[in-house]
Amino acid sequence: MSDAKIIDGKAFAAKLRTDITAEVSKLKTEHGVTPGLAVILVGEDPASQVYVRNKGKQTLECGMNSYEHKLPAETSEEDLLALIAKLNADENVHGILCQLPVPKHINEQAILAAIDPAKDVDGFHVVNAGALATGGEGFAPCTPYGCLMLLKDTLGDLSGKRAVVVGRSNIVGKPMAQLLLKESCTVTIAHSRTRDLPEEVRRADIVVAAVGRPNMIKGDWIAPGATVIDVGINRVEGSEGKMKLVGDVEFETASKVAGAITPVPGGVGPMTIACLLNNTLISACRANGLDVPNLGFAA
Ligand code: NAP
Repeated sequence: MSDAKIIDGKAFAAKLRTDITAEVSKLKTEHGVTPGLAVILVGEDPASQVYVRNKGKQTLECGMNSYEHKLPAETSEEDLLALIAKLNADENVHGILCQLPVPKHINEQAILAAIDPAKDVDGFHVVNAGALATGGEGFAPCTPYGCLMLLKDTLGDLSGKRAVVVGRSNIVGKPMAQLLLKESCTVTIAHSRTRDLPEEVRRADIVVAAVGRPNMIKGDWIAPGATVIDVGINRVEGSEGKMKLVGDVEFETASKVAGAITPVPGGVGPMTIACLLNNTLISACRANGLDVPNLGFAA
């Protein structure tokens, strides 16, 4: 058996950002519109600070406006809601996201619900979750949307394929399953109570792992030739005590069996921000009554 094709999410995301940059430039010159993304960070969680910094940097690199709102950890829910109301009303802001998790005294659901669904470029608002489930116009959450792009780029038409999504979170597993269903896959959603997970995975042409458990899915669970998308990002101790990132799939064994597989890092990870920028571009086009470019998918 030959080794799997490595799905290069880093290169795909770079190409997507180049295409977004070209569309942003066109929007500016032809319509005088500059897409704007507002990112709110409450508190000083180190991982969140890195995410927010990267989002701001890549937003500017694409030619969009970036509005960063860094608030102290003790910010009240009321003050945060007031900021969101202000951003909802600001016509220069096309996308709003509040970096999660928020401090414990703030109700996360209340924050997500306060963001105008038309500016909810993370796709976490119930209106957007509902639109995804019912086929309406909305925003799909960025990580699963990026996974779908990689899958379609690798496999083309997904219709009729058996897909297993391992994990049922609102931000990855559930929307991933909805997106695959929309592509006419036969979808199984597995989770911590699934009775025989290896057997469920073995039946699948497409495996999406979004669990958060290092190397949980082994090579002998994978059907020969299957396409494996590893969303997991787990920090583990590597050789000489150095920390390294691994996915939810045991890459060494799975890559001997799969037809194609995403590495960690360099697979799904870079797609998330690229899709966030894509959603912001889409939002800016919709807000101005302009055609929405179809980036990330073959025409
Ligand atoms: P989450 O909210 O913790 O959900 C994990 C899911 O995995 C749950 O549905 C849970 O089932 C299921 N699960 C846990 N143990 C299991 C087991 N032994 N067998 C089968 N299923 C099991 O996590 P998440 O936010 O979806 O994130 C998942 C992973 O993706 C994490 O490693 C995260 O860091 C990564 N991630 C990456 C990106 C990116 O690449 N940009 C973005 C988001 C997340 P129950 O529902 O039954 O508890």
